[in-house]
Amino acid sequence: MEKTIIRDSLNRPLRDLRISVIDRCNFRCQYCMPSDQFGPDFEFLPRSALLTYEEIERLAKIFIHLGVKKIRLTGGEPLLRKDLPVLIEKLSKLEGLSDLGLTTNGVLLPKQAEKLKLAGLKRVNVSLDSLNDDLFGKINGRGVGTGPVLEGIEAAKQAGLGVKVNMVVKKGLNDSEVVPMAAFCKEKGLELRYIEYMDVGSTNGWKMDDVVTKKQIFEMLKDHFELEPVDPAYFGEVAKHYRYKGTNVKVGFITSVSESFCSSCTRSRLSANGQLFTCLFNGNGHDIRNFMRNGASDEEVSQRIVNIWNNRADRYSDERTDEMNKNRKKIEMSYIGG
Ligand code: SAM
Ligand code: SF4
Ligand code: SF4
Repeated sequence: MEKTIIRDSLNRPLRDLRISVIDRCNFRCQYCMPSDQFGPDFEFLPRSALLTYEEIERLAKIFIHLGVKKIRLTGGEPLLRKDLPVLIEKLSKLEGLSDLGLTTNGVLLPKQAEKLKLAGLKRVNVSLDSLNDDLFGKINGRGVGTGPVLEGIEAAKQAGLGVKVNMVVKKGLNDSEVVPMAAFCKEKGLELRYIEYMDVGSTNGWKMDDVVTKKQIFEMLKDHFELEPVDPAYFGEVAKHYRYKGTNVKVGFITSVSESFCSSCTRSRLSANGQLFTCLFNGNGHDIRNFMRNGASDEEVSQRIVNIWNNRADRYSDERTDEMNKNRKKIEMSYIGG
């Protein structure tokens, strides 16, 4: 198959692919899977619905031929998927991929970091929203303190994986942790990325008032740290970066709400059951799994992806209004993986 670059209706190339490998999670973060909505009776996808590792590998090859350079595995909690290193090994051998990463809550990293690295994983983004055990336990809905996540970060570093830390900031919940988290990550030489709380899904009760914007976070930081801007590393880089003056340690902001970046969004998302989404906020996935299982050839699958991408016109964050928010069917973050 010829390698091609495909563009959507707004001329954005397809560059990144996020693959959710599982919709289950061992946490119940209040901004993602509130425990009152994701209780014991919640019906997660059955195993037979999940894309197999062979199916993911096949799709990854097709996506790479269509211009994808970066793949990130996510979930739910991706480390809950059995034998994940087997998948990592398959993907890491694919030619044409410049980056293979994983987003995780970190709890299972002490057990798995070394195997993941050996299988070819390059880096992990570990989510940590507070350094305060009680608060963190409240946020993750499971009463888990910071210990297991901090151990996970350490294990990933020891294994030689690149590590970044993700912190979702929600007003009145963990904005008091903005400065302590910066101090901690700076000291450890870890890049921290502040993520604006987003209106993904319909279970987290999102309100614009709960969002702490980049500007507000920056105001909190500037009394404590001297920060200098860093140029974007490539077209479509999502985080806006700064550096603590006199160091190589960066801090990033993902400004999905206050400064949207749809015009350079090159990302597609594959859910654990093989639905392709062209936007985090587009509730309608395009089935790829059954198409494959019904015998479609690589060319046919590829053509289907091309058609979907060519017709893409999503720019939800650019256009976000309260009205849209109320009326739109939106998929859950734990299903699509962020
Ligand atoms: N379980 C893994 C984790 O927490 O890193 C991977 C999946 S999680 C859905 C991916 C990322 O989405 C995490 O960094 C998480 O903090 C972020 N996230 C979840 N809900 C969010 C929301 N409502 N707004 C912004 N980010 C959110
Ligand atoms: Fe699980 Fe990650 Fe969602 Fe938290 S953010 S509930 S760890 S999927
Ligand atoms: Fe991309 Fe959709 Fe997010 Fe805009 S709202 S940056 S199109 S995923």
